[in-house]
Amino acid sequence: MTDRTAESCPRSIQPTRPCYMWIVSISSLQQQLKAFAGERDWEQFHSPKNLVMALAGEVGELTEIFQWLTPDESARVMADAACASRTRDELADVLAYLLRLADVLEVDLEAALTEKIAKNALKYPVHASRSTAAKYTDLPGHETNDC
Ligand SMILES: [Mg+2]
Repeated sequence: MTDRTAESCPRSIQPTRPCYMWIVSISSLQQQLKAFAGERDWEQFHSPKNLVMALAGEVGELTEIFQWLTPDESARVMADAACASRTRDELADVLAYLLRLADVLEVDLEAALTEKIAKNALKYPVHASRSTAAKYTDLPGHETNDC
């Protein structure tokens, strides 16, 4: 468990709950998943290739829930108890394989995500990307060699 106080939490998560209750460390979840696999002698199956494929499969299961829903229906998916339960399960499956993959590859997810957010901030400057879903290559001011 990460020892953080509410004062050190990112501003975006402060309104909901105190940070010390909200944050579960990535490494503690990875340790639980590793122990789960180890107890079952499943680590032999956890090659990066297999974990990526399992992750894609779970993303597919999550996608299946939303497939064919209208945007409005998709926004209400958690209002239905059965759909909500299934969505939570599939999100957990996706996270489990993502965490396991990062563990096996020795990728520090917190650092990787922090770095990626910084990269995306450069790719998507607020003044050029506000209220548009355009890819960064199509934003005003982006120089490209593409045709
Ligand atoms: Mg699943």
